[in-house]
Amino acid sequence: MKVGIIGAGLAGLAAGLDLADRGHEVELLERRPWAGGATYSFLDNETGEEIDNGQHLFMECTTAYRSFLERLGTLNLAFRQDRLRVSVFDQNGNRSDLWASNLPFGMHLAPTLFRYHHLSWRQKLEILRAFLSLRQMQVYQRGRLENITFAKWLREQGQSPATIREFWDFLILPTLNCRADQASASQAIFVLEEGFQKDPQSAALAVPTVGLSKLHVDPATRAIQKLGGKISLRAAIERLEIEDRRVTGVVLASNERRTFDAYVSTLAPWRLLPLLPEKLQEEEPFSQLKAFEPASILNLHLWFDRPVADFNFGAFIHSEVQWVFNRTRLAGKNENQRQHLVISISAPDDLFTLNQEQICNRVLPQLQQALPTAQEATLLRYRVIKEPEATFLPTPGLRRPNPRTPIQNLFLAGAYTATGWPATMESAVRSGIAAAAAAAAAAVETNRT
Ligand SMILES: Cc1cc2nc3c(=O)[nH]c(=O)nc-3n(C[C@H](O)[C@H](O)[C@H](O)COP(=O)(O)OP(=O)(O)OC[C@H]3O[C@@H](n4cnc5c(N)ncnc54)[C@H](O)[C@@H]3O)c2cc1C
Repeated sequence: MKVGIIGAGLAGLAAGLDLADRGHEVELLERRPWAGGATYSFLDNETGEEIDNGQHLFMECTTAYRSFLERLGTLNLAFRQDRLRVSVFDQNGNRSDLWASNLPFGMHLAPTLFRYHHLSWRQKLEILRAFLSLRQMQVYQRGRLENITFAKWLREQGQSPATIREFWDFLILPTLNCRADQASASQAIFVLEEGFQKDPQSAALAVPTVGLSKLHVDPATRAIQKLGGKISLRAAIERLEIEDRRVTGVVLASNERRTFDAYVSTLAPWRLLPLLPEKLQEEEPFSQLKAFEPASILNLHLWFDRPVADFNFGAFIHSEVQWVFNRTRLAGKNENQRQHLVISISAPDDLFTLNQEQICNRVLPQLQQALPTAQEATLLRYRVIKEPEATFLPTPGLRRPNPRTPIQNLFLAGAYTATGWPATMESAVRSGIAAAAAAAAAAVETNRT
């Protein structure tokens, strides 16, 4: 079977590799001059260092993404914790660690909360109470979680606004890219349960030690090509032609028309919808795509003339800084002359509308307050990278489509599809594999009839 895969992000690469592994002929059609989608690296012109479009981390429980890296032979290029441990800094320079214990879900954070300085005793008790009610939740109580915000569920569990802000938002921001008042309760709880319910290792964090292109984009591209597949860059699809419930071809911006036996779209929902015939946009499941909204992420890169951070990565509270990654240490480079830090800011709100200088002027003092070593260091260079469509907002009531569609030879993949996971690399890889399996199964069915 000849399969056209629209988009060469992680979902497209995972679908392409899976189908090529099954012996199908694949071609990825990518709008940009490079592959990787939301995950790619490029050279910073001034420092000559390879930097990512956005700092990524993954949890040990993201089994599909881990297996993908294993298939590519690059899992060893990520720094992986044995179990979750994060140093958390406040605006007075106080540091306190959060870590996962061996205790069962509901009590797993109890020992760390006991010693955690950034919350009051009242807040700690509130948090333990919420985890315990999560643990005791009955199946019939879960149905409504899809339709309410996480904040509403937390308030029902007696969580104060300060606890929601200082603990729950802190926990879900890096995985859901939004706060508790926007996230659906089911999506937030899914992440908590995946991370903590199974075993103490599940929530352990992993961070690439190399750029994302080296970690998965280039190896996946090479693996697909080795199996006879093709990656066509600067191949923007403008329209899908559909007749008698089948895609008959795709038309590129260059006006070229391409035909395949099956088509896998990995485009974000707001990008796929306008490429479909208008009538189809009103039909399920495509009409559901209108409800998806993009959410942004901002990265501020800072190069200092000396070591400022003594960690691989750390989290920050009461601050816009959120998470800091020490790229120099993660890459195993000498930190004495220069330290490259990346501040990753999820759901950046109005910060996103500012220019590079304004962003640096607003965020740098907050880092310096939390890490006094940064006050003495000289900032050699800074650079802001904005990703306006980093993820989708996992709002209540969102219906995520399955890979199969009423169009017989059109399959949907992409982090937004019904994988259960929020917009993550895990979701993208799972979606690609699910769409590949659906396309392969449909081909077998067609051959039988
Ligand atoms: C800054 C940032 C930080 C993130 N942090 C994390 C993290 O820490 N951990 C984590 O797990 N996830 C993180 N994510 C999310 C994760 O990267 C995404 O969920 C995932 O990579 C999405 O993959 P995808 O293939 O579904 O979509 P995409 O990567 O968006 O791929 C879609 C592809 O389709 C192409 N395309 C669009 N229109 C057309 C067209 N008309 N014709 C042809 N091609 C087209 C695009 O160029 C793109 O390459 C982050 C994302 C960003 C941007």
